[in-house]
Amino acid sequence: MKLAPSDCRTVKTTCPYCGVGCGILARRNEEGTVTISGDPTHPANFGRLCSKGVALGETLDLEGRLLTPEVNGASATWDEALSLVAERFSAAVAEHGPESVAFYVSGQLLTEDYYVANKLMKGFIGSANIDTNSRLCMASSVAGHRRAFGSDTVPGCYEDLELADLIVLVGSNLAWCHPVLYQRIVAAKAARPEMKIVVVDPRRTVTADTADLHLAIDPDGDVALFCGLLSHLKNAGVLDEAYIANHTEGLDAALAAADIGPEQVASQTGLTLDEIERFYSLFAATEKTVTLYSQGVNQSVCGTDKVNAIINCHLATGRIGRPGMGPFSITGQPNAMGGREAGGLANMLACHMDLERDDHRSLVRDFWQSPVIADRAGLKAVELFQAVADGRIKALWIMATNPVDSLPDADGVQAAIASCPFVVVSDLLAETDTARHAHVKLPSTGWGEKDGTVTNSERRISRQRAFLPAPGEAKPDWWQMGQVAQLMGHHEAFDYPDPASIFREVAALSAQDNAGARDFDIGDCADMTLHDYERLEPFQWPRPKDTAPGDARFFAKGGFFTANRKARFVPVAPAGREISEASPQFRLNSGRVRDHWHTMTRTGKSARLSAHTAEPFAEIHPDDASRLGITEASIVEVISGDHKARLRALITRRQKAGRLFVPMHWNGLFASAARINALIPPVMDPHSGQPALKSGRVAIRPFKVGLF
Ligand code: SF4
Repeated sequence: MKLAPSDCRTVKTTCPYCGVGCGILARRNEEGTVTISGDPTHPANFGRLCSKGVALGETLDLEGRLLTPEVNGASATWDEALSLVAERFSAAVAEHGPESVAFYVSGQLLTEDYYVANKLMKGFIGSANIDTNSRLCMASSVAGHRRAFGSDTVPGCYEDLELADLIVLVGSNLAWCHPVLYQRIVAAKAARPEMKIVVVDPRRTVTADTADLHLAIDPDGDVALFCGLLSHLKNAGVLDEAYIANHTEGLDAALAAADIGPEQVASQTGLTLDEIERFYSLFAATEKTVTLYSQGVNQSVCGTDKVNAIINCHLATGRIGRPGMGPFSITGQPNAMGGREAGGLANMLACHMDLERDDHRSLVRDFWQSPVIADRAGLKAVELFQAVADGRIKALWIMATNPVDSLPDADGVQAAIASCPFVVVSDLLAETDTARHAHVKLPSTGWGEKDGTVTNSERRISRQRAFLPAPGEAKPDWWQMGQVAQLMGHHEAFDYPDPASIFREVAALSAQDNAGARDFDIGDCADMTLHDYERLEPFQWPRPKDTAPGDARFFAKGGFFTANRKARFVPVAPAGREISEASPQFRLNSGRVRDHWHTMTRTGKSARLSAHTAEPFAEIHPDDASRLGITEASIVEVISGDHKARLRALITRRQKAGRLFVPMHWNGLFASAARINALIPPVMDPHSGQPALKSGRVAIRPFKVGLF
């Protein structure tokens, strides 16, 4: 049946994959297909899209979708399912206290969803046991920002990457993981060949292929590298003494902690003295420098220290918040930043307010008119599932994420969820490795079916807009939580008619008693009409009341969000080589491939995307392969304790000897023998709680039938 022409309009929306946050034009055609193109007016991409974005139209069919609520495997009405959720959460709180329930949410949620979840848990249930899978991608950056700036502020913008004379990419395969941003850099370098790119990455990635200098650093050598750089900058006489004196504190302690020479840096990074000297000289000589970092920095036992080691170098040279300069954390998920703004982390309140500050808790509680407010940090992702495992969590609600595949110790997480007395899963799909353990499944609307906002890595808020009807009985996540909150007795506070009303509330809260005291302020949107919300153009925050949106950069003239408005140098010291060469002998690094996203529940639907990398693999150096009798394209077993994954061997000099790389995407739906996160222990950064997903220690051997 052909659609009516009135249903075939073109809608401006935002890509649901990575943190670049590209603008998309989506057009529903008369025969029901969807045409996707880049939005030429969106400031993140100016019309560009990567392979994943282009293929979005191939991922929208309803195969596998959850179309009605289910209770214990049987179809149920919304009333039945939501009443049961409210009843079981209320009963757990009444019997065991507010700490006995938890939400685990997702960077796939829209800001409006995130805000309602956070409000219900922290302000009305009275626990901070709400954490997000964004904990897995950028929590170390958040902790590093807060230690240095007193706020979780990204100081720069994408344009800085085009204006820089030197871009240092640390732990980031930007070409595959944030392709449009990489395209912007490549275009800028083509126009200005004198621009230099340094890639700091243990692997020779596609990104490293285009670098002027690739530093194949040992895993977690980054703190030593940037401590050595800080010492070098001091010795080279290129510190910005005026900026340091006027806008920072703590340099002497940071310099004392970072006092290592090139030989020590070499021994702790595996780099040659020549490589170190080239990098340090280039950095010292180039004022317009951006250091962009991602999961190779964040997903580490010392991720927060890595972030601060990088920020220290930029503060010391005053290279922050000016065109073409600054430290830049690039987020993995489409709304990791919006989740931070809405308070979706277990140690934060909404609108970048602090759970540990009495004045912030009072402000938020008064604004919400809530009966309680959480007064201590909740359980972070890994801790949360450990609490599920040991029986402390009696009721768990998981939204838009698949922790059975994406968290470390994945089999332990699976066992924990299977043992939980009451599990609710809100998802698009009827079957995921997580959803199969749910007592209640709630069908959520997905990309193209729901309305709301997302924030990208440069603090730009954009609309996601619906252009498809909600399938079956699917409903938005904010609606589901609002209904449960009302059934738990909180009618007035959760009586939202639409996402615009939630967005207005976020904006109003962000402006409460603010006057520049906090970075996140979008008070100008507090009185926005539904009509304005529908037509909202992408803008960067801050956007205080009656101001034009928004400042592209922070901190060129100081104004940090600490008590004395000065940035803090954080003394960090390299921890020394913690990698034993003893057995198990391989360091396991995990990450993305170009054309898949997370656990492939969406990109796995596209034959075109799947063709780029058809199956999971283990990258291994030729010397290791030869020593172990592993031949090209044979099947290998990667082993950690009792856990094994079977993968295709990819023998390559892109990988250093003694290390393996395995993609993280394949899981129970696509390749149950390749669930790599089952091999990674639940080890975390002590400051951020971010799992060290690149720190597995494994053995590898050829796979022979009968060996297991
Ligand atoms: Fe989507 Fe990221 Fe690709 Fe842009 S770069 S189209 S946001 S996946």
